[in-house]
Amino acid sequence: RLTVRLEESLVPEVDAMEADLVVLAVGMVPNAADGEAIRTLHDAQHRAEHGESEVQKEEARKIAEELAHHQGTEILNLDYRQGPDLPVLRYNFPDSHYICFPYETRRTGIYAAGAVRAPMDPGQAVEDAWGAAIKAVQCIEAARRGEAVHPRSGDLGVPEFFLQRCTQCKRCTEECPFGTLNEDADGTPQLNPLRCRHCGICMGACPERIISFPDYSVDAVSSMIKAIEVPEEDEEKPRILALLCENDAYPALDAAAQLGKGWNPWVRVVPVRCLGSVNIVWIADALSRGIDGIVLIGCKYGDDYQCHYIRGSELANTRLGNVQETLDRLALESDRIRLVELAHDEFQRVPEILDEFAEAIGELEPNPYKGF
Ligand code: SF4
Ligand code: SF4
Repeated sequence: RLTVRLEESLVPEVDAMEADLVVLAVGMVPNAADGEAIRTLHDAQHRAEHGESEVQKEEARKIAEELAHHQGTEILNLDYRQGPDLPVLRYNFPDSHYICFPYETRRTGIYAAGAVRAPMDPGQAVEDAWGAAIKAVQCIEAARRGEAVHPRSGDLGVPEFFLQRCTQCKRCTEECPFGTLNEDADGTPQLNPLRCRHCGICMGACPERIISFPDYSVDAVSSMIKAIEVPEEDEEKPRILALLCENDAYPALDAAAQLGKGWNPWVRVVPVRCLGSVNIVWIADALSRGIDGIVLIGCKYGDDYQCHYIRGSELANTRLGNVQETLDRLALESDRIRLVELAHDEFQRVPEILDEFAEAIGELEPNPYKGF
């Protein structure tokens, strides 16, 4: 008998199994084009010709050389600002959420099935095609009603842009994980509503705070934060703001509450669509109101991400990195802000995470901006 050792398995408790026969899928290579690499190549070629300086042109030439093998590999020829094909993962298969929505690619309405999506045999491919076809039918129905596909199924509110104040910084068009936003010749975002998954990541990215939804906006959450009662310094009772992702962390806390679990009473919870929708101004608002600590709990990120909107928690982490520098300059401890990644099998940890963070904040001096 053979012993097969498993790595990166979805079943962590099984690390090896005995087998009489092992059939290996060999020679199966993805034939998807890398849409984002093609876009980067085209941008580099343009800069190599029209760059503002010789240094910029030289750098662009190097990038173009490295990516030259993507030249002419387009298959789908999509009209997307972020590239003409599907974004791909490490092994060049189309990117998708491997746990919750394996068939959905990052281009709404395009569903990958069979060996296009992952190595598999004909029987699995047939089953896969059924799953993708059902998803496509749901998508057509949702589009007919103007609704989002899941995880916000049924939602009708697309983002609105107050473009008079847009500075064409392109953060929203670059950070939207679904390529929803194209740009006009000046770099102003152009919304394609049927591609939108309503995640709010563009709202979190916009430094001008001019993106909002009918029922979710920077002002609405700012008002919620401003309405939190903050104890005075002499009450020796810190106040903690917890921004929880509505897809995983918030339902986990809800389930814990239903099971009778408690957590530190200093914590006030505000659910958010995705940590990627967190606009940095909320952090500034909370600190300037005297809130002592802010914890953000979202989905795991990285190559094997579990974020329902692909890069939301990773983007939040990058943005918070910039805030930490500001905190240092203001002489506020960087420990006052913490982002926690929650894996899908760690649901029960949310009350513990809140308790641990409250304990750490309890050891710090009160926020010196209290009362201002
Ligand atoms: S809400 Fe999400 S999917 Fe829609 S435009 Fe903004 S970032 Fe893109
Ligand atoms: S992030 Fe805001 S300011 Fe920047 S391009 Fe988008 S809408 Fe305009």
